[in-house]
Amino acid sequence: MSAASHFSMTYREARDRFLQAARAAGARVNHHEHPLTGPGGEVLATDVARIGPKDARYILGIGSGTHGVEGYCGSGIQTALLSEGFGRNLPPDTAAIFIHAINPYGFAWNRRVNEDNVDLNRNFLDHTKPHPENPGYEELAEAINPRDLSPEAMAESREKMKAYAEKHGHPAMQHALSAGQYTHADGVQYGGREPVWSNRTLRAIIREEMGAAERVIFVDIHTGLGARGTGEMICTDPETADTFKRMKTWWGPIVRSTVGGGSISSDVPGSIPVCFAEELAGREVTSGGLEFGTVPIREVTVALQSDNWLHQNGGHKNPKAEEVAKTIRDAFYIDADDWKEAVTAQTREVCAAALRAFKT
Ligand SMILES: [Zn+2]
Repeated sequence: MSAASHFSMTYREARDRFLQAARAAGARVNHHEHPLTGPGGEVLATDVARIGPKDARYILGIGSGTHGVEGYCGSGIQTALLSEGFGRNLPPDTAAIFIHAINPYGFAWNRRVNEDNVDLNRNFLDHTKPHPENPGYEELAEAINPRDLSPEAMAESREKMKAYAEKHGHPAMQHALSAGQYTHADGVQYGGREPVWSNRTLRAIIREEMGAAERVIFVDIHTGLGARGTGEMICTDPETADTFKRMKTWWGPIVRSTVGGGSISSDVPGSIPVCFAEELAGREVTSGGLEFGTVPIREVTVALQSDNWLHQNGGHKNPKAEEVAKTIRDAFYIDADDWKEAVTAQTREVCAAALRAFKT
């Protein structure tokens, strides 16, 4: 069976397939049920499938759906790996843990953010302290969040962002747009003011499933940045850090640092690696984001703007809801076999190299 056949077009279908593959692979499965439901009234959950000994010293974790709708990719890959027997050839003392739909609400409702309009990957910080500032976002807030989706309003928004990029450079523009903000709760890229459900749930999963391990490698699958079907392993530490050096040794040229290391991603606060480092302090933890390109960045930006406009205008009750949801899904997931095969093949390699790393 081809890898592409394991990908789905709805969260419900993706979850069913994942759970079926996990059970067929003999995994121990845990469900962390979300308080809300999906568009069809279906249960939303972060599901965890574990293969390997309970007290494994080495753990490879593979995550999907941190950014909701990006879960179509990660879920398909997880299901493909489980189905092709990935867990059958684990080295001694090693467990593989698949965390499915870390942000199930966003996945089911085709949003990148969660039920609180929060970008989960900006939410892992100390909310009792002052939140990071993003002056570029403040300056561009109106352009980033246009009043409507008319061609005029979108053209105006594009012009303003273009002017900002010309004045401050593209990295500054990308930072303004994607590095998160903590001031506009209804805006794009909101990082939240308290730990959200997925933050608390992921921390509980890490403690429960990985707390006894000595070495943990976590690969979180994302989409939307980079060239179509091409993967980059994003490291949020600088190139001088041990984590970066380890990643480089295992995964080679696909590894880039967000701290001046030429990554396709901005240096963002409050991302997933923070929570792994905190929950597994004292252990060797290596947490990276495996990011796959989909469509040109301009289309991704328009999808995010459309999503946010919908959120501010009645959400799924708006007559345009279905159309917007489709725009977003198509920006973060390519329904084409060659893309699905490419992203699965690259993740397979990344995972194989991670397992080899445990032997060194
Ligand atoms: Zn993402």
